[in-house]
Amino acid sequence: MECYNPAEAMDRARILELQAVRLKNTVYQATRAPFYRERLAREGIRIQDVATAEDIRKLPFTTKEDLRAQYPYGLLAVPLKHLVRLHASSGTTGSPTVIFHTAGDLNTWAELVARCMFMVGIRPNDVFQNMSGYGLFTGGLGIHYGAERLGCLTIPAGAGNSKRQIKLLQDFRVTAIHIIPSYALHLGTVFTSLDFDPKLLSLRIALIGAEPHTDATRKRIEDIYGLKAFNSYGLSEMNGPGVAFECGAQNGMHLWEDSYLAEIVDPETLEPVPDGQIGELVLTTLTREGMPIIRYRTRDLTRFLPGECPCGRQHRRIDRILGRADDMFIVKGVNIYPMQIENVLMSMPEVGQNYLIILEKKGFLDQVRVKVEIREEFFVEDMRVLSALQAKIASRLRDEILITPKVDLVEPNTLPSSEGKAVRVDDRRGLNGQ
Ligand code: AMP
Ligand code: ZN
Repeated sequence: MECYNPAEAMDRARILELQAVRLKNTVYQATRAPFYRERLAREGIRIQDVATAEDIRKLPFTTKEDLRAQYPYGLLAVPLKHLVRLHASSGTTGSPTVIFHTAGDLNTWAELVARCMFMVGIRPNDVFQNMSGYGLFTGGLGIHYGAERLGCLTIPAGAGNSKRQIKLLQDFRVTAIHIIPSYALHLGTVFTSLDFDPKLLSLRIALIGAEPHTDATRKRIEDIYGLKAFNSYGLSEMNGPGVAFECGAQNGMHLWEDSYLAEIVDPETLEPVPDGQIGELVLTTLTREGMPIIRYRTRDLTRFLPGECPCGRQHRRIDRILGRADDMFIVKGVNIYPMQIENVLMSMPEVGQNYLIILEKKGFLDQVRVKVEIREEFFVEDMRVLSALQAKIASRLRDEILITPKVDLVEPNTLPSSEGKAVRVDDRRGLNGQ
């Protein structure tokens, strides 16, 4: 196994040993923040109670609400003069969740991202274009500094402005990109409208992440651009990208257990679920100085993949994110995740690159309406052909979500597309609808 950092090659025993030491350090460091000092004292937890990685279970959980309540500075474990940057979590209402970093934290983060990029085959001679938004969002600077650390010529393209993205990709013979999956699909349609085959570019690797997507979506991206796409998982609270990443085997993401202690729990009982079972991912920072976070409830649903990875790394793998606990919607008593719908749609060749799920009321009943962009070549005048396609999509969706949705077929590029994380569900049921 070719590694960027020897920590990638650690065996389980070594990982657990290191986690025990780092967890203890983290708890110690956390008690420098007023929030954790009070909370741990209230729960009667002393540093000496933490001796092994398993002792994580003695510690309290931290939620997004906790972080918000401590806005702006309540979770700092170091004096302000030691901090050099802050980032904030996207898509929140009210006070954002802000994360602070020391120079040491930024260094660790850049190393983690460089490690991920090296793992999927990116090398210093690659030209790397980062197409995610720069600013408070961690996908910009987080990936950027990792790419520079690795030694790539790094193009900070930022989000949007598709024509300029295409020009950069072409002129600088870009070989690797970071792109949000929904934007990768959208950019594909821009290539089509320019009659330009993206396979003619020099691209060989894409890092895709920041939002839930299915394996069918990944395959589409690989087909459109003629490259290999690797799933990149992270969240601002745990720095951002670089928490878990797919390796060459493309079967689950290695979660870097020398830097994060991961648990998967039942979101109701908060008890650990057995390996292979889906639950909520809970993460603890093991190396952060400025703002350590203990047992953070990510709300992301996934599972530990059992068995060993053929790549030889023993950091446990998590499955792609099925969705967020708060993404699930209930219609006629059935629990539905947007990713179930995406899975069906993106496996159908007739379906284009975008869709929108609308939840609405018909009389007293909830109804799911799915607007689906259809590929140009399937958008024919013949109503019978279109109705048959509509019925086919509705029936495939029914097999997956157990209720029959209304399906509207729309022309390519007619649904709103976003440069950042895609909004997949429009809930119009009103306040009482949930
Ligand atoms: P933010 O902190 O605003 O960047 O948002 C982090 C959230 O984005 C995570 O908690 C996940 O819900 C989602 N996310 C990030 N990466 C992925 C990924 N590879 N697959 C699915 N969801 C992701
Ligand atoms: Zn692997």
